[in-house]
Amino acid sequence: MNSAAPGAGIVSRPFGFLPDGQPVDLFQLRNESGFEASITPYGGIVTTVMAPDREGRFADVVLGFDDLEGYLGPHPYIGALVGRYANRIAGGRFALDGRKFVLHCNGGDNHLHGGRSGFDKALWNARPDPGALALTLEYVSDDGEEGYPGRLEAIVTYTVTSADELRIDYLCTTDKPTHVNMTNHSYFNLAGASCGDVLDHVVTIDADRFTPVDRTLIPIGELCEVAGTPMDFRVPCAVGARIDDNDEQLEVASGYDHNFVLNRSGPEPSLAARVFEPETGRVLEVLTTEPGVQFYSANFLDGQVRGKGGAAYGRRCALCLETQHYPDSPNQPEFPSTVLRPGDEYRSTTVYRFSCK
Ligand code: BGC
Repeated sequence: MNSAAPGAGIVSRPFGFLPDGQPVDLFQLRNESGFEASITPYGGIVTTVMAPDREGRFADVVLGFDDLEGYLGPHPYIGALVGRYANRIAGGRFALDGRKFVLHCNGGDNHLHGGRSGFDKALWNARPDPGALALTLEYVSDDGEEGYPGRLEAIVTYTVTSADELRIDYLCTTDKPTHVNMTNHSYFNLAGASCGDVLDHVVTIDADRFTPVDRTLIPIGELCEVAGTPMDFRVPCAVGARIDDNDEQLEVASGYDHNFVLNRSGPEPSLAARVFEPETGRVLEVLTTEPGVQFYSANFLDGQVRGKGGAAYGRRCALCLETQHYPDSPNQPEFPSTVLRPGDEYRSTTVYRFSCK
C-alpha cells in the first residue's frame, strides 16, 4: 500500500516502448483528496486506481502490470478499452443492410473483444487537460479493420472527479453503417490487487433479467428472470455465496460471466452495480448509460499471468463490471441495436465511483 502524494493534477512519465520503437507515456490523474487513476494511451488502459479504505489508507484496486512490456504480452484485456465491439459476436459473422461481414474468431468459435488487434492494442493519441483532470484519447479505426465496415473515429475521455470517480465518456462516428459497443475491461479487487480472491466481495446489480448463454457463451436470445437463480443480485450477495452452485449457467462459464439486463431508464448514467469489500470498507459503484453489464468473476485467470510486483493473478482474484450493449447484438435483432450510421453519434458514459462504508 502507498500513501497518495498531495496535490491535484496530471503527471505524465515514460511508460515504455512499442516493438517498433514508439515511446508510450503514462498519465496519472489525481484529485485533491489523493484519489488517482493512471492511464496509458496504449490500449487506453487503466493501469492503476488508488482508492482509500475506511481508515484513509490508499491501495491500488485494479490488476495490471508495472510497465508497458507487461501489457504487450498475452493477458485478458486487463484494464483496456475494448472495441470496436466488446464481448462476443457469434461465429465472427454478421449481416448489415444485406451485406455480410466476416470477423476473426479469436475467442473459440466466436469473435471476442474486437478481434486479433482490437482497440485494446492500439496506440491512442492522447490530450491531457489538467484543469479538468481529464485525458482524451483518440483513435481512428480504418474501414475494414478487423473486418468491420466503416472508418470509425473514436474519442474516449477519462476524467477523475472530486467525488473520487473515474468517469469514461465514449464518442464515435462512422462513414459507413457499422456496429459499435465499447467498454472498459478493468479487473477490480477492492481489498487491493493481489490480495487474494474476490469471493467475499458483496455485489448488487440492478437487473431483473440476464441473457443466458450457450456453451460458447453466446446469448441464446432469451431474457431470463434472475429471480430464484444464482444470478439474482438485486439484494447484496457475496460473489462466492452461490458461484459453485449446481447451475447450468454457472457451469458453462465456470462462474459468473454473464450480461445483466439493467433496469435503468432515462438518458443520464444511473446505478448499475455496487461492490462492497467488508475488510477495507471500500465500495465501488458503477453508473452507466448502457443497457447491460457483463459481470465476469475472472474465472479464466489461472495464475499464469504475473502482474504488478510479480503477483500471480489466479482464478477469481478480481471482478469485472463491463458496461455494454448485450453480447452478439449484431445477430440478435430483438436486442437493443448497436448499429451506428453515418451522421449519427455513438455516445456512452460509465462512472466508476469509489467510497467507503
Ligand atoms: C469475457 C470473458 C473473457 C474475458 C477475457 C470477458 O469480458 O466475458 O469470457 O474470458 O473477458 O477475455
